[in-house]
Amino acid sequence: MNHKKLVIIAIIAVAAASVAYYLYLRSRNVDLIIHNGIVVTMNPHLAQEEQIIPHGAVAIRGDSIVAVGATDTITKKYSAKELIDAQGNAVLPGFVNGHCHAAMTLFRGVADGHDLNDWLTNYIFPIEREFVNEDFVYWGTKLSCLEMIAGGITTVVDMYMYEEFAARAFAEMGMRAIAGQTIFKEHDIESATALIKKWHGHKLITPAVAPHAPYTVSQELLIQAHNLAKKYNTPLEIHLAETAHEVDIIKKEYQATPVAYLEHINFLTDRLIAAHLVKVDDHDINLLKKHSVGVIHCPVSNMKLASGIAPIEKMIVDGLHVGVGTDGAASNNSLDIISEMQTAALLQKVATMDPKSLDAHQSLTLATIGGAQAIHQGHVIGSLEAGKKADIVIIDLKGFHSMPWYNILSQLVYSSAASDVETVIINGKIMLHNKKFLYPQAELDSIREHTKDYQIKIASFLAKTNRARRSK
Ligand SMILES: [Zn+2]
Repeated sequence: MNHKKLVIIAIIAVAAASVAYYLYLRSRNVDLIIHNGIVVTMNPHLAQEEQIIPHGAVAIRGDSIVAVGATDTITKKYSAKELIDAQGNAVLPGFVNGHCHAAMTLFRGVADGHDLNDWLTNYIFPIEREFVNEDFVYWGTKLSCLEMIAGGITTVVDMYMYEEFAARAFAEMGMRAIAGQTIFKEHDIESATALIKKWHGHKLITPAVAPHAPYTVSQELLIQAHNLAKKYNTPLEIHLAETAHEVDIIKKEYQATPVAYLEHINFLTDRLIAAHLVKVDDHDINLLKKHSVGVIHCPVSNMKLASGIAPIEKMIVDGLHVGVGTDGAASNNSLDIISEMQTAALLQKVATMDPKSLDAHQSLTLATIGGAQAIHQGHVIGSLEAGKKADIVIIDLKGFHSMPWYNILSQLVYSSAASDVETVIINGKIMLHNKKFLYPQAELDSIREHTKDYQIKIASFLAKTNRARRSK
């Protein structure tokens, strides 16, 4: 081998070693490490006791989780630009709110004490006709983001009119969302198509098609909505089997339960996210399972509208993916997912008269990995695992109402509150830190001002309509 060849080989060797060293260094550098916390991974591939790391850490690079493990191991292996000390706190996957009408936050508490049919027909539809437009949806959705993020929600499945403006609000607020255009009438299909084309491929927003319910949308339109979702490979959302009233209407018209009716028109698919499922029989549950439909349980809304109790214990045992949702703030009246999973845990025990029903781990599953799977995003979010998106919530366990504690799962489900949420990270970005939002103050002021303006207008409308009702 001549001298020239040796020199070339040496240069190549040095270059290769430099690249390898650079890659090694790069693999050690991360953007953020959360350490010293009680890490509750909710990793479904591990046994329940292995999902809890008592002195754990999570390493994040860009928008993703790089590693999860013991603090010693993670801090030895990685060096971070930023550290969050989670001493005395629990570190969990961000919560999934599986069913919401975010903009309706501006209608919080406008009509209490009615069943779904009365509430919708005589209170909600009239007030929506009066107020809902692009501006309302934009500001109502922004307000909802503040409430949801402050309570640890990092992903929401939304369904409303003018959803383009909800999608804008979610994106600007840095919230992960499935944004579903509600379908009532033919022209809503055009809005849904435009929404899908505009937001397809966005890092946080997944556009979706959301026909309201089997009893409020024609069969032809349900089929069109389904075809649209299929054509563009988007999620499909619907309210389903929410009340006995709905079951009566569908049975009368189609001689089938709402779930069986939807199966008959080929509407049930593994892209469907169905909310409520209060009034379902064993055959309905089999159909939902057969078509891998995701189920969202909304216990507070179902209780408040006196709709009933969804048999989610049975659905979970039967292998369905079940999440939890707040529904809109007009039927809840808050967007508090910690309270929602507590309610789910308690209500299911009453429904079955079995205190073992829906234990703390199952309840926490509803708001995390179960919810992620129910909205068909279990491969992306819902647990703390390397490769998943960095959607993380840190919960303060140092409050007097949190001490002492002996079982972290029981503590989180039965004793923690939304106000314990200390830090929230969505897609690798810190949104709330030490219970303070990181948005510019002007943005927060603007949301407050717009909310006040709507409150004045809506209060005046309510006074007028209540007077008219009383004089009848
Ligand atoms: Zn709803």
